[in-house]
Amino acid sequence: MQYNKNKNKEIIYTIDDLEIDIQLILNVIDERGATAIGLQFPEGLKRQAVNISRIIQQHRRVEVLISGNPCFGACDIDTRLIELTDVLFHFGHSSQGFCKEVVYVEARSKIDVAPVVARTIKMLSGKRIGIITTVQHVHKLQEIQDMLAAEGFECVIEEGDAHIAYPGQVLGCNFSAARGNCDEYIYVGGGEFHPTGASITTRKNIIIANPYNNSVYKINPEPLIRRRCAMIAKAFDAANFGIIVSTKIGQERLALAGALKRKIEEHNKNADLIIMDLVTPEQLLGFKLDAFVNTACPRIAIDDSKRFNIPVLTPVELEILIGEREWKEFAMDEILAGDR
Ligand code: SF4
Repeated sequence: MQYNKNKNKEIIYTIDDLEIDIQLILNVIDERGATAIGLQFPEGLKRQAVNISRIIQQHRRVEVLISGNPCFGACDIDTRLIELTDVLFHFGHSSQGFCKEVVYVEARSKIDVAPVVARTIKMLSGKRIGIITTVQHVHKLQEIQDMLAAEGFECVIEEGDAHIAYPGQVLGCNFSAARGNCDEYIYVGGGEFHPTGASITTRKNIIIANPYNNSVYKINPEPLIRRRCAMIAKAFDAANFGIIVSTKIGQERLALAGALKRKIEEHNKNADLIIMDLVTPEQLLGFKLDAFVNTACPRIAIDDSKRFNIPVLTPVELEILIGEREWKEFAMDEILAGDR
């Protein structure tokens, strides 16, 4: 961990490859005359919470309340902490545009992406190359675009919808910055969830350039599609569905849940809406139902599928189950067929 004031007197906190702009927090405290602030961290940054709190208090006389609740995305805001403080700082994610009271403190990666992007070049078969990434690397997109342009490729960095803060940025539930206006994509970042989702949603080749482990390969979405196909088959005889609605501010899709309930009932099956904050297998155990449809974060149904003892489907998968969508329309976003 490094904590330094640079020559412009800006205070940057550096941990591993990430930089966090503490100066932004101090400026907001000053502008708003805040005396009590909240700090909310995703799980991966929680171990830095106390350090960051102490640095802020070294510079400003404020009461700091740190959220101890789980936090999985910008959609997951500690709303009680907003009420208890003058300003809530949410770390590690970018704004999704639905919670104006919150100040988002992004964490920017310092890792050099150029070597791994350079290795993707021999794998490209098209000429128009889309680039997608997560918020940690969006400041590297211009450099990547320049690299590819120098090799004769036309780069496409697409704008996302209102929930996407930066062109080229994707979320686990939102691939609107990958609308497929190109021959194929390079995904810069770690993990496979985002590029798999982009691959399924765009039906394009996605080449992963992972700067953390220096790996470069083409994503294969087939194993995930097969697992989800098995999940749909498991729910085939279900007659009683629970539709999960999250109370998290950025995941609450009550209107979608209501539409799904009507669809299920039109097929002579039963559906009940279940409202909850944290969706875990333990929370669902007590319900006597045959299957759930999850309108909260899609990662719950997909990443955690093995932990649930009955099928948990996404809204799109429910549509496939009841025959309102074809398998070839399988997608990882949450837009109902009729709303496309
Ligand atoms: S809903 Fe899930 S995938 Fe989407 S931003 Fe929230 S945590 Fe991430």
